[in-house]
Amino acid sequence: MTNPIDPVKLEKLAEVAIRIGLQLQEGQDLVMTAPVAALPLVRLLTREAYKAGAGLVTTFYSDEECTLARYRHARDESFDRASGWLYEGMAKAFEGGAARLAISGDNPMLLAGEDPAKVSRANRANSKAYKPALEKISNFEINWNIISYPNPSWAKLVFPGLPEEEAVARLADAIFKASRVDVADPVAAWKAHNANLASRCAFLNGERFAALHFTGPGTDLTVGLADGHEWQGGATTAKNGVICNANIPTEEVFTTPHALKVEGHVSSTKPLSHQGSLIDNIRVRFEGGRIVEAKASKGEEVLNKVLDTDEGARRLGEVALVPHSSPISASGILFYNTLFDENASCHIALGQCYSKCFVDGGKLSGDQIKAQGGNSSLIHIDWMIGSGEVDIDGIRADGTRTPVMRKGEWA
Ligand code: ZN
Ligand code: ZN
Repeated sequence: MTNPIDPVKLEKLAEVAIRIGLQLQEGQDLVMTAPVAALPLVRLLTREAYKAGAGLVTTFYSDEECTLARYRHARDESFDRASGWLYEGMAKAFEGGAARLAISGDNPMLLAGEDPAKVSRANRANSKAYKPALEKISNFEINWNIISYPNPSWAKLVFPGLPEEEAVARLADAIFKASRVDVADPVAAWKAHNANLASRCAFLNGERFAALHFTGPGTDLTVGLADGHEWQGGATTAKNGVICNANIPTEEVFTTPHALKVEGHVSSTKPLSHQGSLIDNIRVRFEGGRIVEAKASKGEEVLNKVLDTDEGARRLGEVALVPHSSPISASGILFYNTLFDENASCHIALGQCYSKCFVDGGKLSGDQIKAQGGNSSLIHIDWMIGSGEVDIDGIRADGTRTPVMRKGEWA
């Protein structure tokens, strides 16, 4: 049997993750999480990390069969518990300066057939326990990065008609292409891509729009932007001074909406795969920033459970712009994985905002962020609202408008 995953490109992915994604520093420790299926990539990453001068590399593995065993056989109380000790340890490692690398690649529909009440309880317990570590990640107190590995279970979902080996090969190629490691010099390609995203941010930050107005089929939505919001995209300088590319791939520029100033209705343009369930054709209506009505043709119950997580779950924490012609969108593949699908389309996210999407965000307290319109929640869930049929106007404080996107492309 031949290896369906190109070993040279896999090595390039590991190199890009360590050198561009993390910019791992001499002597810096690294905490990784990975599905067991991604072991070949973990080995390459570990080697690259030590070659880059890593202090200590520690990896935590998960396994789909073990996850399912819990849902099928664990006692009921299990679903209100999470490994808090592990996340406390991770938070400690980050306080000590460690970088974070996550490999995604599990079957996004793994839990689709399990009891949704148990899934939501387990997610809630996990989000709560993860919070101390996740805050350090989402606030960029450290350099971090997330990449993907083509697990067979995921590949078979994305390419259901193909034999497993062929599906893995196709998904691997799609990941390599989207992650810009299918070129001769991926490090140079990433530098050029970062410069392009930085120029889009400079335009939007110069305009200082008060709101964005989205119009398209099933969508007429005005998203007020937070006071002192800042557009971000591509590379980020973490608070430890390291410039990292947190998401590989990434095509988006994004900022913080005003939690109280979103009005109108919006329809999703791609299905949302949320922790094992598929939510499709989402239609929601906002009043005063809050979702007051939510419908979906599929997964409506899951959607409403998500919205009831906490008060902030019904409000927006992110708005992001991605041209319809982005390479991921052009691939036409539905990955069922937010890391990819969010980079195929303009999107909004329910829940927690990013403090870095404010001018001098690193210096703002939680209360200041709230006063400027930043949302807080245990969740952060991106869903896609862009397509080749969506127009976006920027609206200034004085009411004047400028076209930002027309038919899904930069105007
Ligand atoms: Zn986003
Ligand atoms: Zn997001």
